[in-house]
Amino acid sequence: MPPVDRRNPIRAASSESTCSLLEFAREFPDDESCLVWLWRERFAPDGEHAHCSRCDAERVFKRYVTAQKRPCWFCQTCGHRIHPMAGTIFERSSTSLQLWFYAMYLMASTRCGISAKQLERELGVHYKTAWRMFNKIRNKLMTQEGAEPLAGSVEADETFVGGKPRESYRREVARRGWNMQTAYWDRKAIVFGAVQRGGKLRAEVIPDSRARTLDVKVREFVMPESILYTDDFQAYRQIGRKGYVHRRINHSARVYVMGDVHTQTIEGFFGLFKNGVRGVYHSVSQKWLQGYVNEYVWRYNRRDDQRSMFHELLGEAVSRAS
Ligand SMILES: [Zn+2]
Repeated sequence: MPPVDRRNPIRAASSESTCSLLEFAREFPDDESCLVWLWRERFAPDGEHAHCSRCDAERVFKRYVTAQKRPCWFCQTCGHRIHPMAGTIFERSSTSLQLWFYAMYLMASTRCGISAKQLERELGVHYKTAWRMFNKIRNKLMTQEGAEPLAGSVEADETFVGGKPRESYRREVARRGWNMQTAYWDRKAIVFGAVQRGGKLRAEVIPDSRARTLDVKVREFVMPESILYTDDFQAYRQIGRKGYVHRRINHSARVYVMGDVHTQTIEGFFGLFKNGVRGVYHSVSQKWLQGYVNEYVWRYNRRDDQRSMFHELLGEAVSRAS
């Protein structure tokens, strides 16, 4: 028998890494249920007893009902108040907590991303609000901060991201007499990624694809003595001397797989990422690209988790609160 989620006995926790809309609505029917969830998760597992920093002891807390503006619980002994939203991404937001939870639900349950435009429609909020929520979730909860270095069999690769340049830019290039091909590539961003086979993935926007830049990233992402699979791009040529067992696949000779020598896992991820960015977000400015990379990496790294991605994301909101 697979383990059953205690809060959700209807569905085996391992059945799928998703949470249905009905389950969401049942667990978080209103703002108060979201607030109570935060309160229990962060301070009082039983909903009543929490550590009071002023008494420096465990005390009974009661919900403070009159001041709804900044909902809180207060210590029955000394009156000290705890605000469950303090230090989280929800603090000081005028958007209701349930809408935040719903936005996180939507972001976590799609495989290939959801646009701010779609969020605007689903939540009935202004586009700017939807966009701000997205950005907060992406850049505060889904970052790769504290990611463990990869080890064992690791594939590394880099890719160019970005569509065709806009008509106005093409005209500028023509007017200035620049080489269209070079200008086109200059406009593209480069993402470097590494994935441990059967394990986690890390990816980052990098300024260029010179050997030195790639070297630094490889050493940051991958443990020494790992087996590193790359293509035959010359920037990787020295990597074998840097403490890695280097296996190269000769892409320039149109060879893509030789036994276990390939970079198909990381390329698969790049393909998914680029399709998503193209289909859902249309075009992404370089300024925000790392946020999108983080979102895709975050989902990829949790693809096999027992808990639903939504509950994982809620967990991030708690564990990353200050
Ligand atoms: Zn107290």
